[in-house]
Amino acid sequence: MAKKKTPVTVSDLAAETITGADEALLLGERIARYGLAHARSLLMLEHLRGAPSPEATKTASGLATCGNYLHFREYFTVGKVRLHNASFCKQHLVCPLCAIRRGAKALGAYLTRWQVIQEERPELRPYLLTLTVKNGPDLNERQAHLTHSLKRLMHHRRDFNAGTRGAPYTELCKAEGAVYTLELTNKGNGWHPHCHMIILSASKPSQSAFSAEWHKITGDSMIVDCRAITGDPSEGFMEVFKYAVKFSDLSLDDNWHAAQQLKGKRLLNSFGLFRGVQIPESLLDEPLDELPYWDRFYRYLGGEYQFTGESPKERGR
Ligand SMILES: [Zn+2]
Repeated sequence: MAKKKTPVTVSDLAAETITGADEALLLGERIARYGLAHARSLLMLEHLRGAPSPEATKTASGLATCGNYLHFREYFTVGKVRLHNASFCKQHLVCPLCAIRRGAKALGAYLTRWQVIQEERPELRPYLLTLTVKNGPDLNERQAHLTHSLKRLMHHRRDFNAGTRGAPYTELCKAEGAVYTLELTNKGNGWHPHCHMIILSASKPSQSAFSAEWHKITGDSMIVDCRAITGDPSEGFMEVFKYAVKFSDLSLDDNWHAAQQLKGKRLLNSFGLFRGVQIPESLLDEPLDELPYWDRFYRYLGGEYQFTGESPKERGR
C-alpha cells in the first residue's frame, strides 16, 4: 500500500494549471496524479484511525469519503476533459488531493487578477519574495514568530505610507499589491515555517535591504530571497499557491500535528491591488456549457483510479 513516490510536488500543481491541463490526451496523467495524492490521504486515514481523538475521528470521516470516485466529462468535440463531480473533504492540510485542487483554484484566481492589473498598470512587475524564520523544535512557537514578524513588516509599510512620524521605511513600500501564503516544512531539522509572497512593484526591491529589515524584525532570521518573476507568470505564482504543508517532507505524525496547529489560521493574505480576489469554493472544474459530452466514471480500487464506465450523452438532442 505504501508507495515510495511522494505525492504533491510543485510539478503536480504545474501539471494541474498549465494551459491545456484539461486536454483529453492528458487525462491519464491526471488520473495517475490524483491516484498518488489519494493514496497518501488513505495512509493518513489509517494513521488517524489508529490514534483516536475527537478531532482525529472527525478528520478521518472526511478523508474516508474524499476522492472515492471521480466523474469526468469529456467534451469530445473540443478534446477537453473537465472534472464534473467528486466528493472532496476540503481538509487541505491533511489531504493532498484537496490541496492540489485548492492550489489550482487559488492560482487561477490570482493569475486572472494579474492579467487585469497588467493591462491597467503595465509598469508593474511581479517579484517573488520568500521570508523564512530559523528552524525550531516547537512548531507553535516558530509559527507564531513568523506570523508576528510578518505583522510587524506589514505595519511598517502601512505606517510609512500613511506618513506616521518616525515610522521606518521598508522595501515593502515598493509593493502596490501583494498576495502571500504561509508554508510549513520539516526535513528532520525542526519546523521551518516560511512565507512566499508575490509583490507587484514598478522597481526592483532590494534583497539585501529586505534581509537587513527582516533580521531587525525577527532577531534571529535573515534568510530572504527576492527575485523577479520572468517568463510564464504561472510558474512564479505557483510557488505561492502550492500548499500550506509540504506533504512530501512530513511524516504522517508530523503532518497531523501541523494540521492541528494550522487549522483555522489564516494562511493566505493580500493587500493593495491583490485585495479582494475571490477564490471559488468548488474544487471541481468549470463545465463547458452547450457542448456535447461523454461522462466518464472512475473509482479508486486496488491502489489506483480505475475506469468503471461511461455514458454517452449529447446535450440538447
Ligand atoms: Zn480531500
